[in-house]
Amino acid sequence: MTSTASTSMKVVRKPLAMQRLAGAQERAVIGLVPTMGALHEGHAELVRVCRPLCDILVVSVFVNPKQFGPREDLRAYPRTLEADRQLLARLGVDVLFAPSARDMYPEGYSTYVDVDGPARGLCGASRPGHFRGVATVVVKLLNLVGPDIVVFGEKDIQQLAVVRRVLMDLNFPVRVVAVPTVREQDGLAMSSRNDYLDPRQRSAAPALRRSLLAAARAAAEGEGRPRALAEIVRRGLQDADARVDYVEVVDRDLMRPVSEVSGRAVLAAAAFFGDTRLIDNILLRPPRRGRTGGRGSTIGNKPAVRRLNAL
Ligand code: AMP
Repeated sequence: MTSTASTSMKVVRKPLAMQRLAGAQERAVIGLVPTMGALHEGHAELVRVCRPLCDILVVSVFVNPKQFGPREDLRAYPRTLEADRQLLARLGVDVLFAPSARDMYPEGYSTYVDVDGPARGLCGASRPGHFRGVATVVVKLLNLVGPDIVVFGEKDIQQLAVVRRVLMDLNFPVRVVAVPTVREQDGLAMSSRNDYLDPRQRSAAPALRRSLLAAARAAAEGEGRPRALAEIVRRGLQDADARVDYVEVVDRDLMRPVSEVSGRAVLAAAAFFGDTRLIDNILLRPPRRGRTGGRGSTIGNKPAVRRLNAL
């Protein structure tokens, strides 16, 4: 990127200043990429996707205390604002919005967005209050930045479903853009939390992706029972010495368990490698039902299997 890109990025710390700045951009299309910082290539991809879609690109960096449980890693969560600022400037971002927790939640703060439906199971069940915190901060950020477009990653597939639900339910006129998960060479989904892994855990962690892929292949070859698919993932994780939090086949929008694999099913998993909890997911494609038959048909399966092998 050019040095002009890096010098022209504005850094805004105060919510009111952000709201005034955004409010003054009458005709501009505003894009927002919300993050918690400690930026990596996954976040960079969200920025790259958003850049051509808007006139003014705002990236928020805010470690939102409301989405961490009392026993979670809020204090230890990596904070690398200066490195984040440099990366965002290189990516041609217009505004870095990095408010403090005190400014976002001043004393007496009392208002929350409580989401039912897609926020119930999976991470919602194992991290009570997490999506309430996510929904609350997303709504606040949207009110401060007033974006036309907001970009999220498919890595956090339940978060994506929850945000879509909230924005629809509360009539936010915002377009949600979803970006496929960016991965390390060995398939591990990029995450700020990967830095917590010690070398042994790091080499075990790709088992999460591998076991999801194995289950997706089984689905493409005709295994339609969610329980059997989940079992493939559980076994893969246990073999890697990971502690399974959940493995479930759910509808990609409702985030509710499905009784049979269909084109809308996603296999989602969370597991602990040591103390570090990692999540990942994969869309399941049932076998094509061609002329020669349905499940288990070799001819019908081939395209789906090939697609999955290429992942
Ligand atoms: P976070 O900073 O972890 O809250 O993530 C901010 C945004 O980046 C969310 O929309 C995430 O889904 C997205 N994100 C995080 N990691 C990845 C990744 N590996 N690939 C794609 N998007 C990601």
